[in-house]
Amino acid sequence: MSPDHPFVAQPPADAQSPASWPVDVLRENVLAYVEALRQDPENRVPPERVVLQLTQDPDFQAVLKTWDGLDGASRVSAWKKVLGLAEHHAREVLPACVMCGECCRMGSPTLHMDDLELLQKGAIPWEAVYALRRGEPVHSPFKKDLFFLLDERLKVREKPGTKECLFLDGESRRCLIYADRPLQCRAQACWDPAPAEDLSKQPYLTRRDIFKDVELLLEVMAEHDRRCRFDQLAAAFSEMEASKGASVDRVLHLLAYEDHFRTFMGEKLGIPADQLELVFGRSFACLAQLFGYRVDTEPDGTRLLVPDREPSAENR
Ligand code: SF4
Repeated sequence: MSPDHPFVAQPPADAQSPASWPVDVLRENVLAYVEALRQDPENRVPPERVVLQLTQDPDFQAVLKTWDGLDGASRVSAWKKVLGLAEHHAREVLPACVMCGECCRMGSPTLHMDDLELLQKGAIPWEAVYALRRGEPVHSPFKKDLFFLLDERLKVREKPGTKECLFLDGESRRCLIYADRPLQCRAQACWDPAPAEDLSKQPYLTRRDIFKDVELLLEVMAEHDRRCRFDQLAAAFSEMEASKGASVDRVLHLLAYEDHFRTFMGEKLGIPADQLELVFGRSFACLAQLFGYRVDTEPDGTRLLVPDREPSAENR
């Protein structure tokens, strides 16, 4: 892409030429340009990372330092140079973590066997983890393809409504458990996918590993897995769509049954409410969003299935 690419940031209306920009406007327009580069399919590097690399670039720092003293023509050529630097950094990831937090915003880690001690020693609280059960659809972080899990996975929670890891501090952009971060976070490198791909061949942590000494709980989880399978829910939704809503009762029955199972067994076994998603995985009511619905409950307990948004498999 050349500096006069259509994604070039637009200067403010009262200051169309870089010649008249104060240094703050230069900074704003650089940020706008980096953001615009996000639309470029050839751009592989997250914008946060581009900005960090750019601000550490000696050539960019030199432009910032000298900008106020440059004449108009020199500013125009310095601006073109900055655009070139931004494009360069948008394509070339430095082989080092600059702690921009972008990986942590794009998803939370899936846990491996060696992460069990982080849970056991309390570095990662139990309620910060949930189960993705066998048969649920997920996106491969390496191929971006959708696939159905052949075995379960345990994952750190994301912040509600986002893919951002629960442990990413919003203000400082630092990991709140950095010294005790899971293996996947240690292996992840945005400049080299190989270590994370290698790690994906290592055994994943499952609920069976965590609760191996609690036989009754294992039996109850297995029963829940048998009676409340994802493929049953998927079939019921697909039937409902094919019948144009006539067979909604089947979906509602599954939602009610699964909810009853987890609530009843949770109370009976004394499972804290905030750990039910670890023990039983995501509820059918939560999974309904993958089919484009949400479940509302009326004051009298009646369940309503409400079209919510485009169906999509969560990257969870
Ligand atoms: S645990 Fe820490 S390093 Fe790992 S994704 Fe979350 S915030 Fe990032």
